[in-house]
Amino acid sequence: MIYHPQTYRIPDKRMQPFIDADEIWGFINDVKPDKQRVRDVIQASLDKKRLSLEETAVLINADDPDLIEEIKEGARTLKEKVYGERIVLFAPLYVGDLCTNNCQYCGFRASNKEVQRITLNKQELIVETKALIDQGHKRLILVYGEHPKYSADFISETVDIVYGVKHKNGEIRRVNINAAPFDIPGFRKIKESGIGTFQIFQETYHEPTYMRVHLGGIKRNYDWRLTSLDRAQEAGIDDVGIGALFGLYDWRFEVLGLVRHVNHFEAVYNVGPHTISFPRIQNAMSLDIDKKHLVTDEEFVRLVSILRLAVPYTGMILTAREPSHIRDQVLRFGVSQIDGGTNLELGGYSKGKNEAQDLSKGQFQINDNRSLSEIMDELINRGYIPSFCTACYRLGRTGEHFMEFSVPGFIKRYCTPNAMLTLAEYLEDYASEETKKAGYNLIDNKIKELEQEQKTEKLKEKIDKVKSGQRDLYF
Ligand code: SAM
Ligand code: SF4
Repeated sequence: MIYHPQTYRIPDKRMQPFIDADEIWGFINDVKPDKQRVRDVIQASLDKKRLSLEETAVLINADDPDLIEEIKEGARTLKEKVYGERIVLFAPLYVGDLCTNNCQYCGFRASNKEVQRITLNKQELIVETKALIDQGHKRLILVYGEHPKYSADFISETVDIVYGVKHKNGEIRRVNINAAPFDIPGFRKIKESGIGTFQIFQETYHEPTYMRVHLGGIKRNYDWRLTSLDRAQEAGIDDVGIGALFGLYDWRFEVLGLVRHVNHFEAVYNVGPHTISFPRIQNAMSLDIDKKHLVTDEEFVRLVSILRLAVPYTGMILTAREPSHIRDQVLRFGVSQIDGGTNLELGGYSKGKNEAQDLSKGQFQINDNRSLSEIMDELINRGYIPSFCTACYRLGRTGEHFMEFSVPGFIKRYCTPNAMLTLAEYLEDYASEETKKAGYNLIDNKIKELEQEQKTEKLKEKIDKVKSGQRDLYF
């Protein structure tokens, strides 16, 4: 059955809208936590239990400064306990900025006539992909506006093109997508091209606000968007990413909306979303929103900690929208993936570093202009293991994230060694001598730590093979 987005009505039982604003406000208004309750909820999360809406509201409503510190400390502990020191790196690649929607926060919206409209052709896409491979990237997210030109066939073709690029020792091994919602056949078509995660952000879970900021185009249909990833699931895409654009409405409501979305997936599809994104609104051409709900740095750090505790098994993505000092801080509270060397200008990677921040050339302003190599240096110096790993997805260990947590010892046996192998590839092919030295020191130290619990001969053999020129080795 093909649904038409303009006239879309929720068709079947499983795809019912699952956001009840009164219920969410009920939790925000009625839950009055005491110290002990807050500590119990933090402990439940440290025992790796996904929190209910009520429990999440306990954390949201704990506004005593000492309790907020305890929540942050809990998030930090959980991150160390569950995720270890790996940070996965990726880059966004904007394929086209044509758009028929009018989202009041977005530079690409149809009414912005001054924005230069570009859709990369095959050759341009290849050139951009090569530029990203030259930085050392292995994982990309392709980004598109919402436009009839960007059909499921078009998206599949662009995915094929990117996967087809082999350049020196490198290639892109995982392509994720951030694009408009499709119907089930459309999602099915895109799945066939071998994508990783399909991301769609609800932007705001609060319907009246949603209607206020989405003034035209297909995206104005709240239900079509809310149930979009259900259609992806029905089409066989079980690897999905959700998100809210913080600053459109009360952050407490959005956090509970995200948690509600997670438990909807768990209840209906038996698997939560792979990732959560929590972009904060940044300056954009003709940005036109009510500033009342903009989120302060303090609130942002707090909400990331709460989300970490609320959904211990969901990957959390933080992008270059945030300045480096916020990124560095928030990394400790539970972020598992970041972008590096980001450039939002269409065709911008092959032109070099993005310093201009010309609002007519990107969707919004970014605040972290560090190159991938600068970010790698910082991560290594701070003891994180930067990872470009794509092993689970390539081996068909689907629901890669699910495996990490459902199989005891999986992270130590697979994720950490694979992170080191991809780091070694980076050090061999893209790093300066200094980074190489620091990176191999880090690898040696992490292997010593692993040795206390498991055999590491095979890992050391594989690292030696990478040093002698082999690539794409994993467990
Ligand atoms: N056109 C697709 C869509 O709307 O789903 C792709 C989305 S867009 C290219 C990626 C995300 O950027 C949006 O979902 C939105 O959350 C975010 N975004 C848009 N304008 C933004 C702004 N001014 N600041 C920060 N993030 C923004
Ligand atoms: Fe278009 Fe997406 Fe921007 Fe909305 S957020 S105007 S749909 S590109």
